[in-house]
Amino acid sequence: MIYASRTHSQLAQAVDQLRNLGAVGIKSVVLGSRDQLCVHPKVQEKTAAAEKIKLCNALVKAKRCEFYNNYNRTEAMAQDTAAATADADGIGHICDIEDLVTKLKAKRVCPYFKSRSRAGEADIVFVPYNYLLDGSIRATLSGVTLQGSVVILDEAHNVMKTCEESASVSMETQDLALAIKETDVAAQFLEKSEQDAETRGEVATDLQIQDVLLVKEMLAKLEAAIAKGFPGSASTDKSHCGSAIVPLVEESGVTFDRHQWLTSLMQQIVDLLALLNAMGGKETGKGISAVADVIRAVFAEVNDAEGARQKMAKYFRLFISSSPKNQANVIYNLWCFHPGFAMKALLKCGLRSLILTSGTLKPLASFTTELDIQFHTQFTGKHVIQQNQVNYCLFVHVTYARYSSVFFEVLVRTITKSAENVALLSTFNNRSNPAYLRGLGDSIVDIATCVPDGMLVFFPSYGVMEACTEFWTNSGALQKVMCSARS
Ligand code: SF4
Repeated sequence: MIYASRTHSQLAQAVDQLRNLGAVGIKSVVLGSRDQLCVHPKVQEKTAAAEKIKLCNALVKAKRCEFYNNYNRTEAMAQDTAAATADADGIGHICDIEDLVTKLKAKRVCPYFKSRSRAGEADIVFVPYNYLLDGSIRATLSGVTLQGSVVILDEAHNVMKTCEESASVSMETQDLALAIKETDVAAQFLEKSEQDAETRGEVATDLQIQDVLLVKEMLAKLEAAIAKGFPGSASTDKSHCGSAIVPLVEESGVTFDRHQWLTSLMQQIVDLLALLNAMGGKETGKGISAVADVIRAVFAEVNDAEGARQKMAKYFRLFISSSPKNQANVIYNLWCFHPGFAMKALLKCGLRSLILTSGTLKPLASFTTELDIQFHTQFTGKHVIQQNQVNYCLFVHVTYARYSSVFFEVLVRTITKSAENVALLSTFNNRSNPAYLRGLGDSIVDIATCVPDGMLVFFPSYGVMEACTEFWTNSGALQKVMCSARS
């Protein structure tokens, strides 16, 4: 069973609930990214997720990560012992990310790779949505068997956005120029290593100079094709049919038959650059990765070039814009506008069941149309609060007096200012402003004095809720609300 939700904090709650059930013999694991699970100090220093992946891949390939080497050793030992079937790794049958990292870091074993190998034998695997819906991440889940699995997508009202985002990619003209420079750096290194045994010993790679030159030639052709433009692309800030990208890619020599081979060569160059970067080099492979992402997006989920054209025309738009920081830098956005595209790709993996759950999926008809799926079973629970239990209340904001309340049949009211005239503006920059926090707390205290039978207060995130309650505990506002509730 695979249980997916949008964020890791939602997954942590689900793991807690599983633990509370006292389920005996159930083995679970939470999969995360290197952001959450990598314990290598050099990789942790990197801020961008893509940089972490590249450096980790390079270190693993070169056997230069102690945590990975230990993981490999323990896996080999576990296979040789009967203890492998029990809790041989000592991290518990139901473990969350924190357990994994704390316990395995102490043993100097890589939690990232350990969690993936554990997924193969787990009864329940917890993952963020995009691990299932993003084809490039899904391809890395080697330990997880989707064929025949029951997949639960919880908080499913977020699924459509994730589907669209995971299929969309962007590339800038600066990326292309950078990619060409990166091939030069890789070629220079390989040339040097051919002549110098010491340099060759620094990095183990199967990459040949002629492969790198071939990729460079393809990038140069793509750059020329873009410079030449295509019908309707003369100016920027334009939206085009997604299929307009296909001739550009083909002109650079990337055909359907060659795309996998070429993108795997590009990946090898990126791995080499990441390793050189860890040894003090400047290039990271960012440019080549961006171009490779576009090639993969064009040919994903199709069987030939015509299929790519049709898919891009049906589901994608090519939006060309100038970078706000540098007008000369043009951004090519391939945006997917059909959530059903990513969802269908997931279904093709042969799931036994797909279950979507949420408190706010209605209207179901448009939801299923957008996802392009026919659900055999749909279930809508009755509302737990009966109509006669609901009082609608109209709050009237009076500037000098406090709030007064009038019980009314309908309430929809936005309160924009506190009684002290402080703007109740929850923008990111204003959220830690003491005047705003005080004003919001005072407003809730005022409302609590005139609302009978308790209130529900919703926050946009746990972080905001914790910051507010901490402030209100210190200011005394929270105690006043509690007193009002009791009286
Ligand atoms: S193998 Fe594990 S510990 Fe080592 S760099 Fe990769 S994720 Fe980090």
